[in-house]
Amino acid sequence: MLLLSLCLGPVAGLRAQLNFTFDYSLDTGFFSGANAGRRLHLEAVGSYVSQFLTATSLAGITAGGGNTWTAQFNSPSDPATTHSVTDLAVAANTVVVYVGGAGLGGSVLAQAILPEISASGEQGWVNNTVFKRTVGDSVYTRASVAALSFNSSTSWFFDSTPLANSSFAGQFDFFSVAAHELLHVLGFGDTRGGSGWDRNLFNGAFAGGKSLEEKSDTPFGVPLNAGRDHWAANTLSFSTRDGAVQETLMDPDIAAGVRKYVTSLDLRALNDIGYAAMLTAVPEPAAFALGTGVLCLVWAWRRRGRRDQS
Ligand SMILES: [Zn+2]
Repeated sequence: MLLLSLCLGPVAGLRAQLNFTFDYSLDTGFFSGANAGRRLHLEAVGSYVSQFLTATSLAGITAGGGNTWTAQFNSPSDPATTHSVTDLAVAANTVVVYVGGAGLGGSVLAQAILPEISASGEQGWVNNTVFKRTVGDSVYTRASVAALSFNSSTSWFFDSTPLANSSFAGQFDFFSVAAHELLHVLGFGDTRGGSGWDRNLFNGAFAGGKSLEEKSDTPFGVPLNAGRDHWAANTLSFSTRDGAVQETLMDPDIAAGVRKYVTSLDLRALNDIGYAAMLTAVPEPAAFALGTGVLCLVWAWRRRGRRDQS
């Protein structure tokens, strides 16, 4: 008995499903008051993305004993102002996402904002826990905290049955846009040096091995947009919902009335940047309905530096 628990205990804790924890403390109305019901939709999108990432191994971050860290990012409710969080406790296999709405202007539907992080203390904790994660033989920037801002001026469609392909002409699909942004939060399109994405860029294209297995017609890299943070516009792959040909979730834009699901190419890229994404996963409608369901996306997505507008 004793032997058994010693052997199994540590192993069980290492790899688990990745979870998003949404923090509404900076929200000023997009997710509160009369709009509080939108939180269920966001949580459902988080669950939707999480289900593809069941073997994640992100260490928890706990400050103290001389170890301290700060994350700085533009506020999701007022991107012109900077917000900083010090010594936030982040559970293992969890990414904390501060969410809100703001008038983002133009064609921007939403934006993912990756933080600037500083840390001091024990060197191993700073380097290996706060800043980096080791995946096999590779070392990548880790995801821990981010902000996510939705355009409060957009006409959003919130679908309680997002896997049923509803019709919503003239509105933008919150499910599709939110899912797109959460992949950015995990590092898709993070062109900063040291990121898993950046490490796979070659000559302006994405040369991750798993992605190239699907796109064998582009042996030197899957074409990207000009910012090198999305697939090239109109890139096609296969929906994880039913295997049908679908424009990738992570191409740079989405039109009104369109729903996108995660595609196999999107998941392959997550694999290439260091996540054990399940390439064959098919969302279970029943699981969604429980969450009450909802999921959505974005449309003119661009991302510069730390900010992804997608
Ligand atoms: Zn984007």
